[in-house]
Amino acid sequence: MDLCDIEILDTTKTISDFINDKIKERHSVVSIPDIIYLHEVSFHVANLDDLHQKHIRWLRTLPRVKPFYAVKCNSTPAVIRMLSTLGTGFDCASKGEIELVLSLGVTPEKIIFAHTTKPQSHIKYASTRGVDMMTFDCEEELLKISACHTRAKLVLRIAVDDSKSAIKLSQKFGTKPSVVKKLLERCKELDLEVIGVSFHVGSGCTDSLAYRQAIEDARHVFDTAVLLGFQMRLLDIGGGFPGKEGFQIQFDEFSKVINEALDKFFPADSGVQVIAEPGRYYVDSAFTLAVNVFAKKVVMDDSSSDPENDRVMMYYISDGVFGSLNCLIYDPAHTNVAPYLHRKRYRSIIWGPTCDSLDRVTANYWMPEVQVGDWLLIDNMGAYSVCCSSDFSFFDKADIYPVLSADVVEAQAPCALSSHIYLSLPYLTLWVRGGAVHK
Ligand code: PLP
Repeated sequence: MDLCDIEILDTTKTISDFINDKIKERHSVVSIPDIIYLHEVSFHVANLDDLHQKHIRWLRTLPRVKPFYAVKCNSTPAVIRMLSTLGTGFDCASKGEIELVLSLGVTPEKIIFAHTTKPQSHIKYASTRGVDMMTFDCEEELLKISACHTRAKLVLRIAVDDSKSAIKLSQKFGTKPSVVKKLLERCKELDLEVIGVSFHVGSGCTDSLAYRQAIEDARHVFDTAVLLGFQMRLLDIGGGFPGKEGFQIQFDEFSKVINEALDKFFPADSGVQVIAEPGRYYVDSAFTLAVNVFAKKVVMDDSSSDPENDRVMMYYISDGVFGSLNCLIYDPAHTNVAPYLHRKRYRSIIWGPTCDSLDRVTANYWMPEVQVGDWLLIDNMGAYSVCCSSDFSFFDKADIYPVLSADVVEAQAPCALSSHIYLSLPYLTLWVRGGAVHK
């Protein structure tokens, strides 16, 4: 199966129908010995329509800001293909991410190598592949870049206030204001070209004013650089945007503040191109994880004095914190999940499949009684989940089924759905695999 295989959803079907069909399909393959376990392995459904809608909202709400999707957040090939088809750029953090994105047809000028501390071999690779735009935040990095990539177009990352974000990045990355001038002077001495400034207000940002302050901070750095003779033309406002269901209100609020700050500090006629590096914004709500309940235990709740509610259901599911649900541990912006079914509810504890007791997905979670063999769904699983998943104890990693509705495909290229269809776009071709189970 091609890594980018995307199934087309008939217009009469919903994502929920698609999930039900996938579960049925997985149960129906029991006669084939090699894949008999499929009905016990978790899977994600990657709803590419959701990505499409997010992109439309981005263009409408932040018209001056070109998104460069942060590949680290979720590097599923179908996600990269879809976003590339929609016209985004890409923020890559390593040689491997650049390789992946280029292999999917993205051209080098649509990539920013947005890691300030890069292994030398990765800088050399970027140089050989024509990926010139890259960030830096210290003199040591400049020396490596000057040795490996003299054509680099440098973007100075500055440390900004990230105190209102779930994941703080400015302690690890970004130059402090006091060293900006010295660093830029060093660039001059090394004959390196600096074209812009970047920042990241922290992932899972909760305060729109963080962007305003950071944009103002970037303005000061621009002014210093211009005085030193650099032709400054790029502002990169990083990531930090919300992406879960219900993201709209906060996203609109952030956008309003960002647009006003851009108009004030980088007006449209300044000629400065503005980009961003959204990660979770694009993918979070697009992924739903389906997990299989492969074991169950009913235990008495000693602490309960209510005879109606004195039993605790413990469930053991096919994915856990060493797999897709690692985000419960590693992503402070994703602290709980809400698996669902539609029946009478009990206090329940859900465990991941491994032997490690850390592998607990929920504690004291109220939900209907589930039977071994049932499937639970977990929404908002797109960001920083599949990308960090392990196969600890050799439990299978969840599969991924990317799906795109026929409406969206037809809107892009009004050709008949055949077993293989091509969406021809100016720079690349999105290959969509037909013959989906639903036709
Ligand atoms: N850009 C950089 C340099 C990052 O480190 C990250 C996340 O860590 C992102 C972009 C994406 O951030 P988010 O997912 O909050 O949009």
